[in-house]
Amino acid sequence: MIATKKLHDALYWKKVTGTEKIQCVLCPFNCILVEGKVGICHGKQNTGGKLYATNYGKTTALACDPIEKKPLYNFYPGTRILSAGPNGCNLRCHFCQNWQISQETARTINVTPDDMVSSALREGAVGIAYTYTEPLIWFEFVLDTAKAAKAVGLKNVLVTNGLINEEPLKELLPFIDAMNIDIKSMDDGFYKKSVRGL
Ligand code: SF4
Repeated sequence: MIATKKLHDALYWKKVTGTEKIQCVLCPFNCILVEGKVGICHGKQNTGGKLYATNYGKTTALACDPIEKKPLYNFYPGTRILSAGPNGCNLRCHFCQNWQISQETARTINVTPDDMVSSALREGAVGIAYTYTEPLIWFEFVLDTAKAAKAVGLKNVLVTNGLINEEPLKELLPFIDAMNIDIKSMDDGFYKKSVRGL
């Protein structure tokens, strides 16, 4: 694996007019960050007045899973898919089964988009699943990897809570072949109380 040490620019953010703060506009939390602060998801940081994707190229796991585990039942059934996911999440579900990586900071391995594509091809996987925690907060890495994967005929799958703003979603969607959007509840109150959503 090739180490990715350089800070990677985040794609969706803006300066807050008349202040030293910046605002991440990737997901509906729209975190406003002073110098040095990280967003709710722990994947973006204001460093020197710029927003960086500190989770770029860092995966908590890299495994080839049955596609039914994503769980997708009617999308290339019987195949396996290379699966990866970052530390962090923009929700705080008390029932999260992957809390050690979504709410805590677990050890990661460094990968590049090319590493991901090579691994998927070597394993004979149908594609790459961005999963385990919340892949939309891994936006910059998912976008680069999904483009590289699609270019060689691999499929891209998102297993997500669906929390993303419209503009970045539109940029990513052309490279995504399937999604499992994990709705926690149809009750807005549940989102506010139990998962600290919007
Ligand atoms: S992606 Fe992270 S830093 Fe950006 S708005 Fe969402 S929770 Fe905040």
